[in-house]
Amino acid sequence: MLKYLVIQLADDAVSYCHYENVTKGGQFISTENLKAAIRFGMVENLNIQFVYPKRALPVGYAEIIETIDHTKILPCDASVVYDSHIVVFNGVTEIENYKLSKEQIAILRIGRNEIDELPRIFNALNGKCARVNVVITDIDKFTDSEFDSYKATLTQLGNTVKANILAGDNTQLNLLTDRLVLKAMNNCNAGDETVTLMPNGKFYPCAGFYYDNAEEDFGDLTRGLQIKNRQLFKLDYAPICRHCDSYHCRRCAWLNRKTTLEVNTPSHEQCVVAHLERNESGRILQYIKDDFEYNTEVNIPQISYLDPFEEHKKW
Ligand code: SF4
Repeated sequence: MLKYLVIQLADDAVSYCHYENVTKGGQFISTENLKAAIRFGMVENLNIQFVYPKRALPVGYAEIIETIDHTKILPCDASVVYDSHIVVFNGVTEIENYKLSKEQIAILRIGRNEIDELPRIFNALNGKCARVNVVITDIDKFTDSEFDSYKATLTQLGNTVKANILAGDNTQLNLLTDRLVLKAMNNCNAGDETVTLMPNGKFYPCAGFYYDNAEEDFGDLTRGLQIKNRQLFKLDYAPICRHCDSYHCRRCAWLNRKTTLEVNTPSHEQCVVAHLERNESGRILQYIKDDFEYNTEVNIPQISYLDPFEEHKKW
């Protein structure tokens, strides 16, 4: 069932996920399309997220946006600053030079070359914002030795998360704290629960699909939403993911298509990274169960593999 509508306010709206947006300038969504998109979201009873570019919106847009409950996703160098909502940072330097408020959620997009910085950055942000979402933009390039060092980094992050739990602090870190509370898959679900409306008035599973090929739309505001092969975006039709318990995994359909040419088949790298995170969450969960008699129905059993595909003969 459709739950979320992401409205990109301009072609150069910030990327908050794996895809890159290298567009400079380009069109703003027209006020007609903006109003029609809001109407679509209201009729379908969807949660609406507006994604902003760095440059200022034309006069009159802010008033239209405020006609509906929504979440704002903004680049950290946006021309207008809002107290709450989600702020996107590209790289460690951007987040180091920004003062987040306790209500804000930070999306930190980093490459593999900055992963070593995560423990220091998360320590610095601890208690200063509501949540940190880390997106490793070149996850598909991980090598075996980088998996080992990522595991060591997660152990360091896990020690901070344990100390947070001890101190009653609750700054969330998507890599480790999400799985602690999940009993079922909680993924991006683009193309199934989420669709994105681009400034051209057309729907896409997410903005990444638009930047790859704007001709592959899923309908528009006039014809309505027309999701092609919708079942392929569903967990039931994901042959590997439906056997997996890395419930926090982004399960990125865009990344899947880029790496395996299938929206419902993940790359080995995406799975191993998610399982290293899952396993560290399992150690944290065991720690709080043992030492704090923490009572939960969440279970993260020990497993012997890092890529569920290795188990496919048992399915
Ligand atoms: S770890 Fe792999 S199999 Fe599991 S949900 Fe993520 S992409 Fe799917």
